[in-house]
Amino acid sequence: MPSRSMQRYVEIAREPPAEREVHERLKDFQEIAARFTEAEAQRQASRCEQCGVPYCHHFCPLHNNIPDWLKLTAEGRFEEAYELAQSTNNLPEICGKICPQDRLCEAKWACTLEQAGHGTVTIGAVEQFLGDIAWEKGWVKPRRPRQERSEHVAIVGAGPAGMAAAEELRAKGYQVSVFDRQREPGGLLRYGIPGFKLEKSAIKRRTDLILQAGVRFIGGFELGRTAALADLQKEYAAVLLALGAYRPKRLQLVGAEKTAMIDGLSYLLASMDEPEVVLPSGIAAENGKALARGRHVAVIGGGDTAMDCLRTALRQGAASVTCIYRRGEWDRPGSRRELEKAEKEGVEFLWNAETRSIQSQSVSMIEGNVHSCVGGSKATLFIDQHAHIGREAYRLCIEADFLIAAIGSEPALPKEYGAPGLATNHKGALVVESQTGATNIPGVFAAGDLARGPSLAVWAIRDGRTAANGIHRFLTMQATHERSLAKA
Ligand code: FAD
Ligand code: SF4
Repeated sequence: MPSRSMQRYVEIAREPPAEREVHERLKDFQEIAARFTEAEAQRQASRCEQCGVPYCHHFCPLHNNIPDWLKLTAEGRFEEAYELAQSTNNLPEICGKICPQDRLCEAKWACTLEQAGHGTVTIGAVEQFLGDIAWEKGWVKPRRPRQERSEHVAIVGAGPAGMAAAEELRAKGYQVSVFDRQREPGGLLRYGIPGFKLEKSAIKRRTDLILQAGVRFIGGFELGRTAALADLQKEYAAVLLALGAYRPKRLQLVGAEKTAMIDGLSYLLASMDEPEVVLPSGIAAENGKALARGRHVAVIGGGDTAMDCLRTALRQGAASVTCIYRRGEWDRPGSRRELEKAEKEGVEFLWNAETRSIQSQSVSMIEGNVHSCVGGSKATLFIDQHAHIGREAYRLCIEADFLIAAIGSEPALPKEYGAPGLATNHKGALVVESQTGATNIPGVFAAGDLARGPSLAVWAIRDGRTAANGIHRFLTMQATHERSLAKA
């Protein structure tokens, strides 16, 4: 029987945490949403229907035990709720903040209440609350192993996939070293996603925790330059590659090659003003905090990276910010909620708008630095706007003096990171066994965007956990095999 503390969706309306006023939030890069108080978290959690077959659990890539921790939250048993939430998720409060819940656990196909017209349970906000309160109350502890094992595993890439795998392997007793070309761990969570979605302190305390459990971190190490995969294989019992997907896709249109244009991720990284940050496009970072100030910014692309670029440009004081997307607003990839935030903050959208060519006097700036990339003369974009409901097709041109191409990225090719023997699929992602993360080279595993193509943090965490189990199985089977050989 469901508890009486639950199913209160008729008397209690869905109320996500309040967001800061637009004029306030545009002044800084801090997170825009507040956090639930204890009473708010209890009230919102108590709306859960406690379905017999919970689809939210199914559509969460980590298969979080959502109805169970919602019930514990509603009853005020926050520590138990947190324990349950963290048992399936290495970064619960981070997923609570940045998961596109409207496509996952809170989608209308995932939450029965949404289907019934009551509005979905605020699952992500409750998960964030549980993680944050656990930190405040001191319930979050490093997962040190009960027993040490001698095998040493190398992980290359300190994003959510690599760090989740590191935490899981360390908890099983393995010696774990994580290598990354950036100076600090965190991957795109630290060097990519802007602070107004995820403040850097939230990722730092989680990565610090994983290091406190005994994981070693080695920054400034670039696979393919500092060492090749074969070097790591000689030294370590198993290797996990979690390098992400950083190769920006290039715009294939007339004039693009002669235009000063920056790719979306390089722009976001430069805007973070992190010392010695490595940009994917090979251009130098410099101080990019005010890159868009006073400029007319045009972003080509309509996904979540494009939304982050648009909202970053607004915060840098751009004179105007326009998003140009070739399809309609309902056909774009990415979260509806992120689009609504960008709209609310003042971004102008050109939907069904296909950029045909660009005219500009400046030359390609890919070999220059970030400032010269956007400091060229004015560019004119020639755009075909397709016919759509209530409008006719027409051609228009807009002028901009700062162009960003946010049309996606793909994983680097294995030969670029010194691992030419690895098999890839047609999208350039590594081919792995879905149950273990094993690649075609024995003892080499892969996880996250490198094996999936650009995706989400929550999928990277899941892949990291899967690969950690795959590595554990591989190493235990190897040890058993060696023992039986020794006996024979
Ligand atoms: P990454 O996080 O990319 O980590 C890979 C690591 O490998 C990096 O630290 C990198 O420095 C390192 N590396 C790469 N090459 C080498 C090399 N040769 N040698 C050594 N180290 C190397 N997801 C969400 O869920 N919600 C969001 O709101 C969201 N917003 C996003 C916004 C932007 C702008 C971008 C680009 C992505 C966003 N994502 C979001 C996607 C999410 O960040 C990624 O799916 C996730 O970080 C992938 O994790 P990963 O561990 O596979 O790779
Ligand atoms: Fe929802 Fe993401 Fe949390 Fe899963 S991890 S319950 S999808 S917010």
